[in-house]
Amino acid sequence: MTAQRDILDQVCPEVAKMEGLVLELGLGNGRTFHHLRERLPGRRIVVFDRALGAHASSIPEAENLVLGEIRETASRFIGIDAALVHADIGTGYDDRDAVTSTWLPDLIARLLRVGGIAVSGTPLDHPLLQRLPPPPSVPADRYFVCRRV
Ligand code: SAM
Repeated sequence: MTAQRDILDQVCPEVAKMEGLVLELGLGNGRTFHHLRERLPGRRIVVFDRALGAHASSIPEAENLVLGEIRETASRFIGIDAALVHADIGTGYDDRDAVTSTWLPDLIARLLRVGGIAVSGTPLDHPLLQRLPPPPSVPADRYFVCRRV
């Protein structure tokens, strides 16, 4: 959680200067969504999850909430030129996260504008996603930040 916030705090000032949507893949209880709303006031944030389970104070407007399997639902946004995609859909189970890694990096590369930023709890190995150094407070390979090239 701290790693996630430290990275988002690092990238949000740059994202604030870029045009484009912010996409939050994995609403969960909405803590990160809440944080992004505070860091990027006025920016449209579209949020994805298979089900709504967020705290009442962190529920997006209906037009910015997309329910269903992210692999399918977010694919409909390919080409949207997002400024930031944040994905927190890792499970902590290597076998399950390995499956996610077969489709998530390519999906994120297609959602982002050139120069846009990806932040993810699972690795984003993709030729169009250039890894950036995390803040010093974040241990290597805890959380990942990349720029779309
Ligand atoms: N960052 C969130 C927060 O601050 O509360 C926590 C996200 S939680 C770890 C992961 C969420 O992603 C869960 O709500 C889960 O339902 C959703 N999720 C994981 N994989 C998904 C998938 N393939 N499609 C749709 N939702 C998914």
